[in-house]
Amino acid sequence: MSTETVETIAEAEVVVVGGGPAGAACAARLAELGRDVLVVEKSEFPRDKACGDGITPLCATQLRMLDLDWLVDDAHPITGLRGNLDYRHSRMVRFKRKPVRDWHAYTIGRCPMDDAILGAARERGARLLTARVDRPLLDGDRVTGVRVHSREHGEAVVAARYLVAADGATSRLRRELGVDGPEGGIRTYGIRQYFRTERRLDPCYDIYVPLEHNASGLVGYGWVFPLGDHEANFGLGYVEGPGLGEPGPIREMFAQFVKNLSLRLGERFGDVEPIGKHMGSPVGIGFSSSRCQAGDVFLVGDAARMTDPITGEGIAYALVGGRRIAELVDRTARIGRNGLVAGKDLARRFPRLGMNVASFARVTTQMMNSGGAGGTDGESEQPHNPTVKRLVLNVDPFDPWWSATPVGQLVTSLDEDAARELEAVNHEALDAIDVTAPFVREALAKLLVSGAGPVGAATVLLAARACGGGEEPALRGLARAAAYAPLIEPVLAEVVDSPKDAPEHLNNAGIVLMSDFVLTRAWAAQAGLPLEATRELAEALESTSSGVHMVHEDRYDWTQGTERHLATIDTLSGRLLGTVAGVAASLAGAPELAEPLRRYGRHLACAYRLAAGIVELLVGDDVSAKAPGYEVARGFYSLPVLAAARDADLRRLLVRGLDLDDSSGFIEAVRASGGLEDGLAECRAAAERAKAAVADAPLVRPELLAALADSAVEHAERSIGSATSGEREGQTLAGKT
Ligand SMILES: Cc1cc2nc3c(=O)[nH]c(=O)nc-3n(C[C@H](O)[C@H](O)[C@H](O)COP(=O)(O)OP(=O)(O)OC[C@H]3O[C@@H](n4cnc5c(N)ncnc54)[C@H](O)[C@@H]3O)c2cc1C
Repeated sequence: MSTETVETIAEAEVVVVGGGPAGAACAARLAELGRDVLVVEKSEFPRDKACGDGITPLCATQLRMLDLDWLVDDAHPITGLRGNLDYRHSRMVRFKRKPVRDWHAYTIGRCPMDDAILGAARERGARLLTARVDRPLLDGDRVTGVRVHSREHGEAVVAARYLVAADGATSRLRRELGVDGPEGGIRTYGIRQYFRTERRLDPCYDIYVPLEHNASGLVGYGWVFPLGDHEANFGLGYVEGPGLGEPGPIREMFAQFVKNLSLRLGERFGDVEPIGKHMGSPVGIGFSSSRCQAGDVFLVGDAARMTDPITGEGIAYALVGGRRIAELVDRTARIGRNGLVAGKDLARRFPRLGMNVASFARVTTQMMNSGGAGGTDGESEQPHNPTVKRLVLNVDPFDPWWSATPVGQLVTSLDEDAARELEAVNHEALDAIDVTAPFVREALAKLLVSGAGPVGAATVLLAARACGGGEEPALRGLARAAAYAPLIEPVLAEVVDSPKDAPEHLNNAGIVLMSDFVLTRAWAAQAGLPLEATRELAEALESTSSGVHMVHEDRYDWTQGTERHLATIDTLSGRLLGTVAGVAASLAGAPELAEPLRRYGRHLACAYRLAAGIVELLVGDDVSAKAPGYEVARGFYSLPVLAAARDADLRRLLVRGLDLDDSSGFIEAVRASGGLEDGLAECRAAAERAKAAVADAPLVRPELLAALADSAVEHAERSIGSATSGEREGQTLAGKT
């Protein structure tokens, strides 16, 4: 218990220390929930803050939730991201219009933004005191208030029952509470300054890599984020720690960065003129679930180190976190403390923040500066450029939305509600990838679109509706499981046997991460399902793994007959799709239809796999940038190839190996031998078997299932047609066969 006799100048049920985005969002929510809340902020607002001023769509949504639509609507819209390598090469990735959420990013200066957020908290009833908080006052782990210093009152006390520390990246309360903790040996710093530019700025986030000092590459990036047509936030941020290169003094590095922009990209900016001074600060990385609560003291925002360790984004997390912590404080006030739930809750919501980037940063630094790992790009003297280029610039823009896939379009044409659900599943899957597996984001998102993801989810949603249901919440979980589970197969196929060099080791490390992600997600998605359904899905997943083995056993074997090929397909995906279709029927309240649906799903999987084999051979896959015949070149033969291998000439072509730059001769040979017709005939037969399986079942909407089966055949037919007319088609329906 504090025995000090200084004056108590204010009282509140909850004191929030810091009026930045985290503190203000927390106070706003507490006030909404009817709590008596006081924000204690040391600076007079509006106050400035070192920041890139970048506002992501998630952040914009949070601002709108605080009724700050005007702030977002007046913000400077950003329509793309441009990666710049060595001030010479650049690549623009335009943000795609997304069907379910705001696709814009923005920039907003922190002065007006933070002032508006704090204003929103005050409008909701939060009070504000301008004073510096020096330490918490505790009675055991029970909060009694905070010790403050204000210009008006000098040393004083503010009494409170609960305390939220939102006092930023250098949080004093965090230190005072003893939850500062180790940071894995790495720290991140950033600096920015505003500039006026002579030339009109492109409305994109410009990222400059590599950052270097004394010719060695550093993990970090420089940025130019426009706040208007001729005004921009220039800045840089980098990671520092053992094994991470030798950064120079931050101001020197920043001055060099600005000089390089003028000297080497003068045409882009014209003359640049500083507005005001530069401002630097540590970046709040190093989140840990065990360090965001101490008794009745809650930490949030940068005080809890809630900045993304890869991008440096923190405002959105501060806003979402502030809101969430407010709800936990409210719950604690209503029903008492229930363990240290805050950390677990935030960690679950933002798994990416807890990522330990130390190893990744060290490997990247080593690769950048080793000189040999990436080869040379012929134009650059810096050894790190090829590696940085591979990591940052060689990312092809692509649209990971299912609505653009043939299956997505089919569902949209059949049933609006199912299409909305399919979008929601797609959205959740992409979000999960973004936050949990950012290192392998590109690869996983591509697999999700070009792999069997949409087919499985669409089967669940349409099967349930065909049975007369569709609204049951567990169906979304099942659809998610159906989307993730088949990904394990293409992921495992990318493992490099006996890796010999660093990139191959990294590849395999990536595969482990991806497999872990996919399996964890597939299991988590089933959380709300009945036990029996979970057991069935587990067995189906086991079958998929056996299928992967069968595919690899048969690699380069053109003597495997049609029967073996169909058995492999069934083991690989028939069991899984059959299971999810059957479980969907049960969840939709029609257990008596589970059996015919199970048979339908099995044959449907076969039809889709056979169609995918034809599409992949003839038109390849634009999403994953696979040329026609890519899988054949790697020894995975689809049915048309196996059928055509009756022909001795084609076998000779297979022995010689397929040249992906010119696969037309091979494809022509498959066509001439009747292989395509055979493949299409099997695909048609499988679709017919699927429809026959449910022909006598008393379905409410049988046309949905028929349309899904027919679409596999149509897609195969279309690709045969477009290959004949020389056109490339879009995406595959499912993975390789
Ligand atoms: C250079 C740089 C660039 C960045 N760029 C971006 C970007 O482009 N986009 C993005 O989303 N994020 C960016 N971030 C991260 C982002 O700035 C933070 O994540 C965000 O500001 C966190 O909000 P907060 O409310 O937790 O902390 P802050 O915004 O730091 O607010 C903390 C508040 O607490 C007050 N305070 C501190 N100590 C006390 C005390 N003892 N008593 C009373 N009050 C106190 C401070 O005055 C301050 O107002 C960047 C960070 C840096 C350093």
